[in-house]
Amino acid sequence: MSTALGLLALRRYVPYLRPYLGLVAIFGLAQLGSLATAASIPKIIQYIIDGPATHHQLDRLVQMAGVLVLIGLLEFVLIFLRRNYSGVVSLRMETDLRNDFYTHLQDLQVAFHDNWQSGQLLSRAISDIGTVRRFVSFGLIWFLQTIVTFAVVFVLMMQLDWKLALVVVVCMLPIAYFSNKFHYKYKVIARRLQDQQGDLTTIIEEMATGVRIIKAFGRMPLMQRRFEDQARLLRATSLEGIKSRALLWTQLNFLPNLSLVAVLLLGGFNVVQGTLTIGGLIAFMNYVFMLTWPMDAIGWVMSMSEECQTASERLNEVLDSRPEIADHPGARTLERSRGHIELRGVGFKYPKSDEWILRDVNLVIEPGETVGIVGRTGSGKTTLAYLLPRLYDVDEGSVLMDGIDVRELKLRSLRSHIGVAFEDPILFSASVHENLVMGRPITSDEELKRAIDIAQAGFVWDLPWGLETRVGEQGYTLSGGQRQRLALARAVLGGPPVLVLDDPLSSVDVHTEAVIEEALARVLEGVTGLLVVHRPSTLALANRVALLDGGTIVAQGTHIELMQSNELYRALLSQQYERSAEEVPA
Ligand code: ATP
Ligand code: MG
Repeated sequence: MSTALGLLALRRYVPYLRPYLGLVAIFGLAQLGSLATAASIPKIIQYIIDGPATHHQLDRLVQMAGVLVLIGLLEFVLIFLRRNYSGVVSLRMETDLRNDFYTHLQDLQVAFHDNWQSGQLLSRAISDIGTVRRFVSFGLIWFLQTIVTFAVVFVLMMQLDWKLALVVVVCMLPIAYFSNKFHYKYKVIARRLQDQQGDLTTIIEEMATGVRIIKAFGRMPLMQRRFEDQARLLRATSLEGIKSRALLWTQLNFLPNLSLVAVLLLGGFNVVQGTLTIGGLIAFMNYVFMLTWPMDAIGWVMSMSEECQTASERLNEVLDSRPEIADHPGARTLERSRGHIELRGVGFKYPKSDEWILRDVNLVIEPGETVGIVGRTGSGKTTLAYLLPRLYDVDEGSVLMDGIDVRELKLRSLRSHIGVAFEDPILFSASVHENLVMGRPITSDEELKRAIDIAQAGFVWDLPWGLETRVGEQGYTLSGGQRQRLALARAVLGGPPVLVLDDPLSSVDVHTEAVIEEALARVLEGVTGLLVVHRPSTLALANRVALLDGGTIVAQGTHIELMQSNELYRALLSQQYERSAEEVPA
């Protein structure tokens, strides 16, 4: 029953089998064939014992031995075909499913990733998909094999002695009770087990990405304790699972033995009465033996099916989350944006939070103009920058590009017009070249060189393999300033008409900053810029400044105007602010 439910949970994966139906047919036929050969053997044994062996027909005996050898060989080939093709099909299905899972993860909005631990996603992508694959390649096949074996063996037994066959059926009935009990217990354990594996993965992942901080703060023992506690939880749950499985297997193993005793007693009685031949009894017992292995398999298949149901439940939690930020039907493509940006009555809260981070934000940036955003820490500057490339969608009002709501534009088109560099310069474990180009159709080396020059990232030419040098995970083989300059080069590469730069120069020294600013000023001349400013020096790049406070723009104007008219602005950009932004009076 529960296994049947497991099969239902697999409905979603049926389309993944469709491309491989030919292979499925091969292994299905091989499966049936191998079953037929296995089922024919007791019949032949019965024939040998009751025929040539009883009547001393030596030549017939040799012939039958030959037939047995041929059947054995055929079974060998069929089993190979079955195992091989079930493995091939399930592996292809697993690969396709994992590719789709990854695509889906990328399509999901940033807010989804804010709320999911990466270890939980990792364990779903790797171990849960593997669990589904294992069930499809072994569990499902053994499940079908077991059902067919039971049906075939039952018919053959009925032919031999129907009363004896019914006795075997009665002895097997407790399967339903045992497996149902197991189902209710194990489904809870399986879910807990897989969730805890995800938590453990998260701890390992956090350790790997935060290793510098952990070591610098001497927090290894703390992390070790966290890990061991989690590992201990996982072990306890695994032990519960082992106990439950062991109990089921023992119970299921007991049933064929019970049947065997009953068959020996009643069958022996029938032989004495002359209603059954010795060969018939031996064949009957062989059929009971044929059920022993499938009974073992039922226990195993059932636990696998529970794990598969849990795995698919966990996968569905991700796969059923619809990407909220996606192309609307009829979304438009912008050929070449003029770079006119407008925020009209924008209000924004982070999902799962009631606090308005931005409210009534009105801001127009004319083509070619650069607006600096100033505000105390946590005032929502970065959040505002996220809204332009639609990393998040507004809750109120709208963001317009060339007068079109960004939600009406195709994401790919919108984002191809905006170059971004955020506070945290994220790089990938790939070559410098790949990190800069990021798959965009950048054709000329000139463009690349120009972007590197603007960002003062000439250090890349001195790396051991130049642009082909691989940077470590998250760019950790580079210095903070180098990473930031690469991220800046990446943003300006390809000359996007809109640049969103979130404090792009915070980690570079004063001299480099001055050089970059000079080059950036040239780049910003022709494009529209939204520049989050933390340091007064960067303000030179902005034509106009907007002051963000309490989630809204409280003042706009040139730097000089705001310095003269706005006390908060003066305070933020004064020397005190440089020392501690948090001490600024409200
Ligand atoms: P800073 O000058 O320090 O970079 P900021 O002005 O860029 O600050 P934001 O990063 O935009 O500030 O954050 C604005 C507010 O939104 C903060 O109070 C922050 O706690 C909150 N916030 C930021 N990211 C999230 C998130 N993913 N989920 C919920 N709240 C968030
Ligand atoms: Mg910020």
